[in-house]
Amino acid sequence: MRVGIVGAGISGLAAARRLQQAGHEPVVFEAAPAVGGRATTIKLMNCLADPGLQAYTPRGMAIERVLLNELPTKGLQKIEKPIHILSHGRPIPGSQEKNLQPRYTYESGAVRFPELLSEGLDVRLDSPVESLEKRQNRFSIRGEEFDSLILTPPLPEVGRLLGTIGKSRSIANASYRPCLSVVLAYDVALNPSPPYSALLSDDRMSPVLWLGIETEKSKNRAPEGWTVFVAQFGPGYSRQHLESPESSIVPVCLSLVARLFGPRFASPVGQYVKRWVESQPERVALFQSVNPNGERIIVAGDGTYAGRAENAYESGLMAADRILRMEDR
Ligand SMILES: Cc1cc2nc3c(=O)[nH]c(=O)nc-3n(C[C@H](O)[C@H](O)[C@H](O)COP(=O)(O)OP(=O)(O)OC[C@H]3O[C@@H](n4cnc5c(N)ncnc54)[C@H](O)[C@@H]3O)c2cc1C
Repeated sequence: MRVGIVGAGISGLAAARRLQQAGHEPVVFEAAPAVGGRATTIKLMNCLADPGLQAYTPRGMAIERVLLNELPTKGLQKIEKPIHILSHGRPIPGSQEKNLQPRYTYESGAVRFPELLSEGLDVRLDSPVESLEKRQNRFSIRGEEFDSLILTPPLPEVGRLLGTIGKSRSIANASYRPCLSVVLAYDVALNPSPPYSALLSDDRMSPVLWLGIETEKSKNRAPEGWTVFVAQFGPGYSRQHLESPESSIVPVCLSLVARLFGPRFASPVGQYVKRWVESQPERVALFQSVNPNGERIIVAGDGTYAGRAENAYESGLMAADRILRMEDR
């Protein structure tokens, strides 16, 4: 069976991989020039940083076996240092229980996992799907015919695509939070090296919710003696400042970093701002209610489950399994 999949993020690739393993012919259409979607890695001044997904935390779900046992594990690293809490301006140890969950990354960045998933799959990069078409019993995408479709972009885009063939699903109540993410690179080492790899803020002194230290997460992300941070703002600030210039966003991160690590960190040698309009779902539209039985267009992605990689992966498998079950009948 030929299955057209929109989106080469973790969910679309998980679906394609399962279908291909079951002997089908999935074709994945991806608007961007690379796979990964929100699991992405950028290069900034000889440094690698993840402005989206920070770490893989499999929590015993299906992604775990793939990550640890099925795909090549070269460059896969367990993040040794825990997450601490930023409370009243001071880092304090975080929940022991939460820090017991193993967290993983790759030496070459978060994008490595989707890259590995995509190996051997038919993925068409730079191929935005503007509309769907339905001809008799088949569907077509960018002039190619398919028996079934899987749609994995964030749900507002799924709604738009369905609308191009006069269809809809119950996704109107789903919503996503925005996230401003700032990467900062310094040709200065953190000395002493902190006992944590990231700080999760629970105070109001800064609108930065998450401060990840890429160079503590994985040692090979930057040249020796450099430090790279990823600062992610909370949803309130991100929503309000999504269109604000870099010149007003970056100083907010710098003042936090300089306060924590000293005045040398007030002046980065490189900076990058990523504006995620749909970073993670705030309210999901559950897979079962979005996908009535018998439909040959399946909607997947983290918006149908929950906003994390392991859930996006699971939703892709659920979509593939729906199609495989339909074929069995
Ligand atoms: C800032 C941030 C931090 C995060 N931190 C973590 C974390 O630490 N741990 C964790 O587990 N998760 C984290 N997440 C969430 C995680 O990244 C997502 O849940 C997961 O990557 C979603 O995968 P997906 O396949 O559902 O969607 P996406 O990754 O969004 O994939 C959808 C793909 O569809 C493509 N697309 C969209 N429209 C079209 C079209 N019309 N035609 C063709 N292609 C199209 C997009 O380009 C994209 O590649 C974070 C996300 C963000 C943004």
